[in-house]
Amino acid sequence: MVGLLPEPFVNADSKAYWAAAKEGRLVLQQCADCGHVEFMPRHVCPKCWSENRTWTDAAGTGTVHSFSIVHRAPLPAFREDCPYVVALIDLDEGPRMITNIVGDGAYQVAIGSKVEVCFEDRGEAKLPQFRLAGAGGGP
Ligand SMILES: [Zn+2]
Repeated sequence: MVGLLPEPFVNADSKAYWAAAKEGRLVLQQCADCGHVEFMPRHVCPKCWSENRTWTDAAGTGTVHSFSIVHRAPLPAFREDCPYVVALIDLDEGPRMITNIVGDGAYQVAIGSKVEVCFEDRGEAKLPQFRLAGAGGGP
């Protein structure tokens, strides 16, 4: 995806996430008290309410839980990228992410497809996206 797509909004909770993405790393928050690993970044652990947060590198691999192929752009900025795939990915570490499937064969996605992270330039940021495991192309 390219063009005038919106850049990520970075806040205090997600700053480390976006900094790692800029380096080509997918990271997840982990609770230092109960060990829960999660996505999206947030100030407190949703399991035990601890504010004691750490970051861990994710493998960048996962499985498609569900997906949809978008044919009608929700905003004008997405119009030239239609059709595109929006998917829920179950990361191997456990958290579920909403993301895009990009690259070669993206439209062949199926529930249960194995995927791997790749990174798309989005202004000053890099946006974690996913492609089918072993597929080429993408950003
Ligand atoms: Zn916790």
